[in-house]
Amino acid sequence: MSTKKGKLVVISGPSGAGKTSVCRALKQRPDVEFSVSATTRLMRQGERDGIDYHFLTREDFQRRVSENQFLEWASYNGNLYGTPRWPMDTALAHGKTFLVEIEVKGTRQLRERGIPGLYVFIAPPSIDELRARLERRGSNAPAEIQERVRLAEEEVLAAREVVAGVPMYDVTVTNHDLEATIREVEGLIWP
Ligand code: 5GP
Repeated sequence: MSTKKGKLVVISGPSGAGKTSVCRALKQRPDVEFSVSATTRLMRQGERDGIDYHFLTREDFQRRVSENQFLEWASYNGNLYGTPRWPMDTALAHGKTFLVEIEVKGTRQLRERGIPGLYVFIAPPSIDELRARLERRGSNAPAEIQERVRLAEEEVLAAREVVAGVPMYDVTVTNHDLEATIREVEGLIWP
């Protein structure tokens, strides 16, 4: 085992801001390990269990909560999402960059626990642009898009919070252009 300590990178931001695309690019690097979250939401077309998410029943998820298996977990749009605790310790001990893609409530929990890392907020250029992206994605029903837009407005405000004496995010990157955003985030992680 390497003695080099790895680094936690938290990528957060509203649904549709582009954080999944940013993470998809970062995951290609051999020194990056991506955190596969658990969720109770239904699998979308093209998603694979154990790769995109661990898809769990609500009962199974809640059992894992009671067993303290999650580093953080939150309810988002009626579904539960959580980061399994153990992969991070192993990845960091191996000197890897451990990449976690989560929403704002989960980020707040990590900050409250004083977990060190680079906390990045990916912001949309505007709420109108975000709505347009969610509509283009096509995998969400209109009511769900409306709810995700409402949540996005809340998340953009919450991102400015100070938690346990530190800003919730170290940096906000506005995603006008995906390639430029990826380069900017890479520059933050590997300066
Ligand atoms: P989606 O349903 O679009 O895949 O994800 C909905 C939201 O949940 C996104 O903002 C995503 O980043 C967030 N999310 C995914 N996994 C986790 C997790 O393990 N914990 C938390 N707190 N949020 C997560």
